[in-house]
Amino acid sequence: MQKITMTTPIVEMDGDEMTRILWQEIKDEVILPYVDLKTEYYDLGLKHREETQDQVTIDAANANKKYGVAVKCATITPNAQRVEEYNLSRMWKSPNGTIRAILDGTVFRAPIMVKGISPVVKTWKQPITIARHAFGDVYKATEFRVPEKGTASIRFVSQSGETLLDETVYEFECPGVLQGQFNKDSSIRSFAHSCFRYAISTRQDLWFSTKDTISKLYDHTFKDIFQEIYEQEYQKTFEELGITYFYTLIDDAVARVIRSKGGFIWACKNYDGDVMSDMVSTAFGSLAMMTSVLVSPDGNYEYEAAHGTVTRHYYRYLKGEETSTNPMAMIFAWSGALRKRGEMDGNDALCAFADRLEAASIATIESGVMTGDLYAMWEGEVPARKVTSVEFLREIRRRLDLAAAR
Ligand code: NAP
Ligand code: MG
Repeated sequence: MQKITMTTPIVEMDGDEMTRILWQEIKDEVILPYVDLKTEYYDLGLKHREETQDQVTIDAANANKKYGVAVKCATITPNAQRVEEYNLSRMWKSPNGTIRAILDGTVFRAPIMVKGISPVVKTWKQPITIARHAFGDVYKATEFRVPEKGTASIRFVSQSGETLLDETVYEFECPGVLQGQFNKDSSIRSFAHSCFRYAISTRQDLWFSTKDTISKLYDHTFKDIFQEIYEQEYQKTFEELGITYFYTLIDDAVARVIRSKGGFIWACKNYDGDVMSDMVSTAFGSLAMMTSVLVSPDGNYEYEAAHGTVTRHYYRYLKGEETSTNPMAMIFAWSGALRKRGEMDGNDALCAFADRLEAASIATIESGVMTGDLYAMWEGEVPARKVTSVEFLREIRRRLDLAAAR
């Protein structure tokens, strides 16, 4: 059988622990037999980040900008314990944070749905994708624990030295708390562009919600910027594709999301997205079935699984145990990247392979073959069989070969 060829490389970012082991197994079992894979490889494993003083992360992000498409393995974000474990010279920053800062991107998280594992919310028939604006607001706030009676005020002095705002926030008659938040038009604009682009790329409706009725200047600015960018740059394409942009108050959005059938993107401000993405992903079932893609406002894509390096499984693997770690989100990171590469290069065969890989993976679970995490949640009609990660990948490969032989 002839392998599918590629013209442009995908940026491949390797990672840590159990996901690093699975990374190689996924490539060996379900990609390399079918695709003459072209990647530009960056080792973001913690050991190599230390060796390069984290330069490798920056280089990988810049390569993502150059080639447009990347696929990333989960990586350790060091804490004090990891500094000791890996004998690090510094507590390196989260690679995802570094890459996001360089790409100025937005993260979209979407669940993989299979028959037999049903969402807690019975009406949800299609995935709900959450887009979180990962900049500013409470995450970059200045906070103060007010110790005693006193006056809190807010002041803005312009570059030219003019005081444009000087207002009392509150006259404290007792101890309390105080917080100052900000955001930037440039960041909100980038967020909006990423959301509109991703909606077009996946042909899904886009919802956006804030608390603009209460926050008449802060949140309302988000609403206005989205509306302006939509009308100026995306409305025409949305109408041509038959998809809609829909703004609503966050309270209304929450109620509508629960009653919905799914199948749309829900864009949220930073805090809302943080909280809602945990709620939505839990309601869909499993972190191991959640994919994640970083989309930059100028159209670069980085695909990954939403879960971490699955440390507990890795320690069992090191003891010689064959683990039953779920590789689905990582497979879908690869298929997402291959499909996007295919779209950008006009390589239909590559897009078709991505579809076949996803279909074979879903069919494998739906036939009752699955890893331990899903086995515990299975409600399908066929009896389930719990397999190891490698057995699971071999079953997907068997299905891919079967489809090719037909
Ligand atoms: P985690 O790796 O997501 O794992 C947490 C638990 O969730 C696992 O112990 C496992 O539960 C279950 N799980 C997650 N993925 C699974 C899969 N594919 N198959 C089966 N079960 C799965 O989170 P963590 O233990 O908090 O973090 C571990 C490391 O990952 C940390 O160093 C953290 O910095 C890093 N991390 C990286 C990323 C990223 O690169 N995007 C994201 C998050 C965390 P059971 O043990 O009960 O089976
Ligand atoms: Mg959260």
